[in-house]
Amino acid sequence: MNIILFGPPGAGKGTQSQLIVKKHNYFQLSTGDLLRKEAKNKTELGSKIENLISKGNFVSDEIVNQLIRQSIVNLKFRDRIIFDGYPRSIEQSKYLDELLKEFNQKIDLVISLSVSREIIEKRIIGRITCDKCNLTLNEFFNEKEIHLHPCGKDHFVKRKDDNLDTVMARYDIYTKTTKPVLDFLSNNQNFHEIDGTLKINDITTKIDTFLNV
Ligand code: AMP
Repeated sequence: MNIILFGPPGAGKGTQSQLIVKKHNYFQLSTGDLLRKEAKNKTELGSKIENLISKGNFVSDEIVNQLIRQSIVNLKFRDRIIFDGYPRSIEQSKYLDELLKEFNQKIDLVISLSVSREIIEKRIIGRITCDKCNLTLNEFFNEKEIHLHPCGKDHFVKRKDDNLDTVMARYDIYTKTTKPVLDFLSNNQNFHEIDGTLKINDITTKIDTFLNV
């Protein structure tokens, strides 16, 4: 099964993807994670990506589509991909459609997490990620978990694009460019919307009911 986890920045796509990966042996294809990894390389391309991400702008389709292609050609991930943060525009949706057809695959499940802008702001401003195991927590809501985290709390880092100005820019781009993709995706007969403000485990339980595991 290939899955698209759709939703605005801060909706919980990454958190839910990680939980599905842990429980069901899926591969999380997060374009944001891949781009941040690339940005860490102090190459010309890395600096270009870093600059775009830090302002909340999209990285070009040419770069992002190439990353997606690399994962889809990898047979290890065949029919076990969770697309997290992709597609983010109608053009990317069309590209994904063609690419999957080329490799004889399809999207089997689309889950859209809906969350209001006010909640997103709180979530993103407090978001921290462990640079060792990639676990994401929130400074406001997870004080105890951060303190007890097995990798040690010093491994938690904040994303540079998780500040109020950039969050607003990202949300605007989401509304203008990414949200229209919903019309496209909601035609899929396996499209489901989940209230992204529910507890993390309750969302996971709902997602589990849609996975044929
Ligand atoms: P995310 O981790 O999904 O919030 O993505 C972080 C940033 O990476 C975004 O704000 C964009 O700058 C860039 N990015 C991630 N996915 C895409 C995509 N599909 N298309 C263009 N840019 C992307």
